Amino acid sequence: MSFTDPAKNQPVTCPQCGSDVPQSPGRGRIKQFCNPSHGRSWRTRMRSAGWL
Ligand SMILES: [Zn+2]
Repeated sequence: MSFTDPAKNQPVTCPQCGSDVPQSPGRGRIKQFCNPSHGRSWRTRMRSAGWL
């Protein structure tokens, strides 16, 4: 069974460093960061900027 999730076909770039984030095929949430530490530092930056 193969159905494609349109959201996962979009190229994703890491907002922390701007590099491409490879998506693992299949179901699951979209990866937004190239590695977890970039996601963590990005969220820390957003929080310090008053977004959260
Ligand atoms: Zn990154």
